[in-house]
Amino acid sequence: MRVYNFSAGPSMLFEDVLKEAQSSFLDYEGSGMSVTEMSHRAKVYDGIHTECLALFTELMKVPEDYQVLLLQGGASQQFDAIPLNLLTNGKADYVVTGNFANLAYKQAKKYGDIRLAASSEDKTYTYIPKVTKDSFRKDASYVHITSNNTIFGTRWKEFPETDAPLVADVSSEILSREIDVSKFGLLYAGAQKNISAAGLTVVIVRKDLIGHELPICPTMLAYKTQADKNSLYNTPPAFSIYIAMLTLRHLKKMGGISAINKINEEKAALLYDFIDNSTLFKNYVNKEDRSIMNVPFVTGSEELDAKFVKEAAANGLVSIKGHRLVGGMRASIYNAMPVEGVKKLIEFMKKFELENK
Ligand SMILES: *Cc1c(COP(=O)(O)O)cnc(C)c1O
Repeated sequence: MRVYNFSAGPSMLFEDVLKEAQSSFLDYEGSGMSVTEMSHRAKVYDGIHTECLALFTELMKVPEDYQVLLLQGGASQQFDAIPLNLLTNGKADYVVTGNFANLAYKQAKKYGDIRLAASSEDKTYTYIPKVTKDSFRKDASYVHITSNNTIFGTRWKEFPETDAPLVADVSSEILSREIDVSKFGLLYAGAQKNISAAGLTVVIVRKDLIGHELPICPTMLAYKTQADKNSLYNTPPAFSIYIAMLTLRHLKKMGGISAINKINEEKAALLYDFIDNSTLFKNYVNKEDRSIMNVPFVTGSEELDAKFVKEAAANGLVSIKGHRLVGGMRASIYNAMPVEGVKKLIEFMKKFELENK
C-alpha cells in the first residue's frame, strides 16, 4: 500500500513518474539496459540529458541569457559554490530567515565581507523581514535569500528589489509556483523535494556571472567547468536527471507551473483554514508569509504531538514529525502530494481533535 508521505525531503514523487521509471527500468527504450547502467556519453543518455534541460528551460521560462546546470553536491554544496563563484568584489549581503539560510550565511563568511542584511531570528523565523533596496549594499557582489524556508514554513511571496544580482535557494519550492527567472542572478535547488531523487542539484545562472570564480575555487565547484561542457564535464547523476525529466514531462502534461501552482494554493488553503479554525492545532507563522509547501503546526503539548505523529503514521500519513529544531508536526505538501492526501490529513486531524479534547 502506498502511503501519503509528508516528508520534507526526500519526498513524494508523482505516481506516474514512478510507474514509468519502473516499466523501463530493465530496458530503457530498447537499449537493453537501465538508465543506471548506461554511459553518460551514449546517444540514448544524451536524449534524457537534453530533454531534461529543455523542459526546465521551457517550464520555468528561462531567458536566453541564462544557463541551466545539472550538478551534484546538494543545495548545501552551493552554500560554498556561490561565494566561490560570485564574490567578485569580496562583499555579499544575506537575509537569514531560517536554518538553511543561516548555514548559507555562515559558509559564505569564510570567503569575504559577508553582511547580515536582515534576519527573522528574533521571532524564531516565523516571518519574512521587510526589506527595501536600501537594506542592501549597492556594491555587494550579490544578495542571498532562501525563498521558501522548509523548517519554519515561511516563504518570500514577493522577492526583494536589489541593485546587486539576487541569488535564491529555491530547494523547497522550485516548480511549485511561477518565478520570474530574469529577476535573479542565480537560482539553485536540491532535487529531492520537488524535482527528482536525491543526487541532482539544479542551478540556473545568468551567463555573465559564469567564469569569475575566485582563484581558490575548486574546479568541480566552478560553474564554468560544467557550463562549458553542458553539465557533462564528468559523470552526471544520470538516474536523478532521468527522474527529473519524467517529473517535468508530467508537469508539462498537467499544464505547466501555473496549473500545479493552483493546486498547491488549494491544498495549502485547505490545511491552513482547518488549522486556523481548530481548537487544538496551531500554526505560528505570520499569515502573509506562510509557505504553501511546508506547513508546521503544534498542539501545544509534546505528548499530544508525539501521539499525533504515531497515530497518523498508523493511518498511512507518514513522516509528519516536525524538524528537531522546532518540534511539533510539519506537513510538507510538495507538488506530488495529491489533494486527496491533504484531505485525508485534515480528516485525521479532525478525528484526533475530537478524541483528544
Ligand atoms: C533541503 C534544503 C537544503 C539542503 O539540501 P541538500 O540538497 O540536502 O544539501 C538547503 N536549502 C533548503 C531551502 C532546503 O529545503
